[in-house]
Amino acid sequence: MNTQAYAALDKDSALIPHAIERREPGPHDIQMDILYCGVCHSDIHQVKNDWGGTTYPIVPGHEVVGKVVKIGSHVSKYKIGDIVGVGCFVDSCRTCNPCKDGEENFCEGGIVWTYNSKVPGENLPTYGGYSKSMVVDEQYALRIDPKMDLTRVAPLLCAGITTYSPLRHWKVGKGSKLGVLGLGGLGHMAVKFGVAFGAEVTVLSSSENKRADALALGAHQFVNYKNAAEAATCNSKFDLIIDSVSAEHNLNFFMTMLKRDATMVLLGIPAVPTEFSHRSVISKRRNLSGSGIGGTKETQEMLDFCAENQIYCDVEMIKLSEINTAYERMLNNDVKYRFVIDLNAE
Ligand code: NAP
Ligand code: ZN
Ligand code: ZN
Repeated sequence: MNTQAYAALDKDSALIPHAIERREPGPHDIQMDILYCGVCHSDIHQVKNDWGGTTYPIVPGHEVVGKVVKIGSHVSKYKIGDIVGVGCFVDSCRTCNPCKDGEENFCEGGIVWTYNSKVPGENLPTYGGYSKSMVVDEQYALRIDPKMDLTRVAPLLCAGITTYSPLRHWKVGKGSKLGVLGLGGLGHMAVKFGVAFGAEVTVLSSSENKRADALALGAHQFVNYKNAAEAATCNSKFDLIIDSVSAEHNLNFFMTMLKRDATMVLLGIPAVPTEFSHRSVISKRRNLSGSGIGGTKETQEMLDFCAENQIYCDVEMIKLSEINTAYERMLNNDVKYRFVIDLNAE
């Protein structure tokens, strides 16, 4: 099946229109028409081969919302017309302990990423949501309440779950002091979830022009850490910091903002490895950890939580043909706070 998409053919060129081949839906597959796809900074990292291992042509996009248009003979979870989401992975080994626990994001037997992976059992690459249609095993699709404002849902499939999961894991709630480092796609969702869970939320940002937005998003404080006096007010302040910065930064500087026994959670994956001083964890017995997206079980829980509490992403809608400008703007730290491609906009 041929599908219209946008692809990068190498790491230095712009994305261009590109026809891709999708498999015909098998017995357990659903076929969806893609309605919306969010633009994650990980798309840019992979297009630019920041992490190594990119295979071209690459069709990015792992924040996908679509409508089911065809189902395989054994599909039981979905019917034609349902609204579904697809996040960062489309299959996994299904037998390892993380898979059995619904934490396929930590699969030990071979996760299949939504793009830049191989379709299991076939010699086809996986291609992401910068395209008109997609075929996915029903087990790896998520249910979306059709009453939600669908234009603002897609980024929940990556930015949403990636921030929801660590806040739940480290039990952020009433009485917690949460620092959100970097106010981008991930950061703005960390603020919304932190506030919804009852935490006191401080945004740690390098962008003075985001001060009013941070407070409007519900943050209790905004700290421009480039201002030394402002940054100093955060010494030993936080129980948890969510670090969503996409570029190189001085981790040791932010570690001093953690209380005794408190934890820094790395989410951002800059192209350059971060320098780290042992002293920053030895002092005050602090913890350095990280978190990667979330499993299907928790992603469904997060989507249901958002539907119930009317939690949405703040988005700028674009056409697929505007993707290169969107990338440039994201690299200039100029997006409020997620670009979402409307696949039906010409
Ligand atoms: P984004 O929307 O571009 O936001 C990144 C934020 O980082 C910016 O808003 C900015 O915040 C800060 N920043 C950017 N460049 C900076 C620089 N040179 N110096 C200091 N701060 C800078 O990106 P995103 O989509 O949220 O993704 C953030 C990172 O998380 C990316 O590396 C992405 O690959 C990674 N990611 C990881 C996972 C996971 O599972 N762990 C999932 C999704 C994404 P301020 O303006 O507030 O300083
Ligand atoms: Zn992502
Ligand atoms: Zn597994």
